[in-house]
Amino acid sequence: NKTYDIIIIGSGPIGIACGLEAKKHNLSYLILEKGCLVNSLYHYPSNMTFFSTSEKLELDNIPFISINPKPRKAEALEYYRRIAVSNDLNINLFEKVLSIESEDETVHSIKTSKGIYTSKKVIIATGFYDIPNYLGIPGEDLPKVNHYYNDPHFYAKQKTIVVGASNSAVDAALEIYRKGGDVTMIVRTPEIGQRVKYWVRPDIINRIEEGSIKAYFEAEIAEIKETSVILKTPEGEKILENDFVLLLTGYRPNFGFLKNIGINISQDEKHIPEYGKESMETNVSGVYLAGVICGGMETHKWFIENSRIHAQMILQDIDKKIKKAS
Ligand code: FAD
Repeated sequence: NKTYDIIIIGSGPIGIACGLEAKKHNLSYLILEKGCLVNSLYHYPSNMTFFSTSEKLELDNIPFISINPKPRKAEALEYYRRIAVSNDLNINLFEKVLSIESEDETVHSIKTSKGIYTSKKVIIATGFYDIPNYLGIPGEDLPKVNHYYNDPHFYAKQKTIVVGASNSAVDAALEIYRKGGDVTMIVRTPEIGQRVKYWVRPDIINRIEEGSIKAYFEAEIAEIKETSVILKTPEGEKILENDFVLLLTGYRPNFGFLKNIGINISQDEKHIPEYGKESMETNVSGVYLAGVICGGMETHKWFIENSRIHAQMILQDIDKKIKKAS
């Protein structure tokens, strides 16, 4: 069985960046992806517009041409797919990595849903979009409840509750309202999040003030039922009639996966995995972290713009170590 120089887990923008960089260093590599190419991006809302301008989403200085300054999801899919296909990147899709066992810093065994691979180094670029922050309330598993939002048409003329007050929740609330949905936002904090895109925040605040979108602040859902939702508000308990609930309260990296590999995670509420700030190598020698997974629960800290650089940092370190060993 072939031993790869590097196995890269995840074909998000950053996993792809690592593949491009490995190719440049003439190192053998394989990207393993549990879903389709750029799987997280593929599952973003269909009308999603990036907050970054297109040049900030570029990999390896390959021009990202977009008609608008801020590209849309469809354009980003087109861009990253073209890069993967035209560079003939070595990617196995629909193959989930289940576990990694490290014998020493140059011998790693990677078990997947389809087989076992060995590599000298491993890069984990698995992002944070696979696991929602569950609320743990009764009724959360009803079919009318979703932790991911896709398209507004589905919610036209439906009493839709959107929980959350950051970008995902605000974008969904505005879109659904504009396609004829009856939207109520349930917000834990006293106001709409400060990190909401600066050109969107006034829009949502004005829609709430004029009553087009209803909102309960400092409120939480206590229980979701088939045709209603029970709220806890500062004015006491309220029961709202309801058809659909979107719980857009964020996502988290798969900490269990990291822990099983032996990677240390900070004990505080940030859950930051341990890695060197220059090399990106974790406390498990030969295993690296790249992309948004590095932020732990601080999922706003890293994004494509500021984490694409991880690919160069990691490959420099790996190149040095592999060449030194041979
Ligand atoms: P991801 O793109 O999440 O890639 C991780 C990949 O790993 C996925 O394809 C996943 O399927 C795969 N994977 C996970 N577990 C396994 C496993 N066990 N085995 C195999 N494969 C696995 N960033 C910006 O810079 N600008 C923006 O405008 C912007 N807008 C955003 C809008 C939304 C709605 C969201 C959610 C994020 C946005 N971000 C933005 C953040 C950033 O785009 C994403 O987080 C980005 O996709 C991160 O890239 P990544 O490669 O680190 O992780």
